[in-house]
Amino acid sequence: MLKDRIFSARECLERHSLDALLVTSLHSIRYLSGFSGSDGVLLVTPDSGCFLTDSRYTTQAGIEVSGFPVAEYRIKLDAVVEWLSANSCRRIGFIASQLTVEVFDELKGKLPVAEFVPLKDELAEIRCIKDQSELTLLETVAGLASEAFLAVLPLIKPGVPERELALELEIAMRRLGADDKAFDFIVASGERGALPHGHASERLVSAGELVTFDFGAIFHGYNSDETVTVAVGGVDPRLLDIYSIVKEAHDRAIDAVKPGVPLKELDRIARSYIAEKGFGPYFGHGLGHGVGLEVHEKPLVSFRSEEVAAEGMVFTIEPGIYVPGLGGVRIEDTVSVEKSGCRLLTKVSKELQVL
Ligand code: ZN
Ligand code: ZN
Repeated sequence: MLKDRIFSARECLERHSLDALLVTSLHSIRYLSGFSGSDGVLLVTPDSGCFLTDSRYTTQAGIEVSGFPVAEYRIKLDAVVEWLSANSCRRIGFIASQLTVEVFDELKGKLPVAEFVPLKDELAEIRCIKDQSELTLLETVAGLASEAFLAVLPLIKPGVPERELALELEIAMRRLGADDKAFDFIVASGERGALPHGHASERLVSAGELVTFDFGAIFHGYNSDETVTVAVGGVDPRLLDIYSIVKEAHDRAIDAVKPGVPLKELDRIARSYIAEKGFGPYFGHGLGHGVGLEVHEKPLVSFRSEEVAAEGMVFTIEPGIYVPGLGGVRIEDTVSVEKSGCRLLTKVSKELQVL
């Protein structure tokens, strides 16, 4: 599997006639080499390369890294420059969004004969299409987070602080084998539901409210992302109406996912339905995003997307309606695109659960 990924990275070298590609994103380093630590640089050349790290990680890299020799540095930038000079690399590509101006200037200063070529994040584009081992991990982590949510469901009652529910959910995930939480969970009850990114607060959940949970786990480097909105007892009919509109927008978009569909078309399907029902101004964010080694990665699923759905892509579908002063609803599933449709990786039912 790593072989295929490295092959794709080398195609990028060929496209830009590079002698070397400098990879500094830890996610892309993990993708290409298997290294899971928090510091290092990967240099990829047309027929070899090197993974450079410091003494904290040399042993770990020796175990984890395949496809590249491992070397240890004391000063990172000097080691990169030395390696590039020793291997006569003159045209060196780097991902423009991931190198600071400071490091770029220093590299240029230390290696004046080289030409540094800024690139779009083509590695992130390669990472859009998941291979079988990634799909297995993404399904495992999504299933694990869904199971943790179901374990916490009986604790959602009037009088419980949002923050306690977030903590219980995190504990349940860890018990089920998650390495960590993917992000700070959103637990937004009552009027706070109108905050699309309302982190869990001290607020107590009350009867007659909707509560939105946006949560995810990490397992072997891969993330999950799911949002469930539940009702605590009977709620305002306006909120029930909003729930059914968001659910229908979510279902319509998911039904439309298949290879070849422009991602902006998925956004349009959900958005136009919500607008038709009169809530257009209350759905401000994009419909979804890719999920993988990063919880938010390519492809973007929004009106700005240029990509089309392809087999092996994994992304979220997460429409929402947020009405200030009343509350909000978001429903989010993560799907993997298959030959003739898609599969849900997240497993909690999105029918409204009244607790
Ligand atoms: Zn989410
Ligand atoms: Zn999301």
